Amino acid sequence: MKNIAVIGAGTMGNGIAHVFAQNGFNVNLIDISQASLDKGVATITKNLDRMLSKEVIDEAKKTATLSNISTYTEMAKGVADVDLVVEAATENLDIKLQIFKDLDAVCTAETVLATNTSSISITQIAAATNRPEKVIGMHFMNPVPIMKLVEIIRGYSTSDEVTTTIMELSKQLGKTPTEVNDYPGFVANRILMPMINEAIETLFNGVAGVNEIDTVMKLGMAHPMGPLLLADFIGLDVCLSILNVMYDGFKNPKYAPCPLLVNMVMAGKLGVKSGEGFYDYSESRKAEKVSSQFN
Ligand code: NAD
Repeated sequence: MKNIAVIGAGTMGNGIAHVFAQNGFNVNLIDISQASLDKGVATITKNLDRMLSKEVIDEAKKTATLSNISTYTEMAKGVADVDLVVEAATENLDIKLQIFKDLDAVCTAETVLATNTSSISITQIAAATNRPEKVIGMHFMNPVPIMKLVEIIRGYSTSDEVTTTIMELSKQLGKTPTEVNDYPGFVANRILMPMINEAIETLFNGVAGVNEIDTVMKLGMAHPMGPLLLADFIGLDVCLSILNVMYDGFKNPKYAPCPLLVNMVMAGKLGVKSGEGFYDYSESRKAEKVSSQFN
């Protein structure tokens, strides 16, 4: 594989494009929004500059990486001749089903179609195409240039050949791919989200405060940050939606989202992105709150 298309230039898409381009692949970065493409390329440039200042890469590597990336607002043009598409568009079932239906119509028969979804069934996405054996989950972690794991999710019909190819490709990116099967939450979120939900439940039950819960988990379990701060970083709406996918998928009350989480999302308290979640990220308090968690 040499030519890659990445759909969606947001948080994950620009990171995925960066990693492929830095490893010598030709990348077509596609988004419906020109503003997202501009922002995505600016983020990649900023991250390359940071790597340059830390002497992780040299100037030539930065130039080569950026020159490996082309941007498109028209999907059909950007995916015409690629070996692999990695879809990292908005986490919405209808959007993803439409994208995969369109990809199936415009990509060559050999093109492998991967999705970076956090929670939507790979099997359901694959069923929107006529090539379910060539559809696979490639779940990168945020921030993509730094995090080593890629959770490789086999849908019900994903072939051995495609799985092997994608595992090998992930290694070429310097990542550690780990193969899992397609059940709600896969492995990463199936284990992480109940822990975050239990931390919220512990707060809701008045067992301890936000700082106390995060301190216990950070210092007691050697986690790099507490579960409530992590939830704020992931986005409380995202946590709620993943828990709901697992609750619906397993019909098991152990995945039922804590009512406090539901209320906070309804109130628009989504964590870092909205300026407030379990912590306050307003400009005046941002440094104080966040740095106290990392000290
Ligand atoms: P984001 O909102 O930052 O970016 C999504 C981008 O997709 C936007 O730029 C939007 O314009 C674009 N888009 C929407 N519809 C499109 C379409 N039809 N064609 C092309 N582009 C389209 O989202 P994100 O956080 O980067 O998440 C992307 C995917 O990655 C989701 O499936 C999410 O579940 C998954 N994911 C996110 C994280 C995370 O920490 N943010 C981690 C792992 C996986």
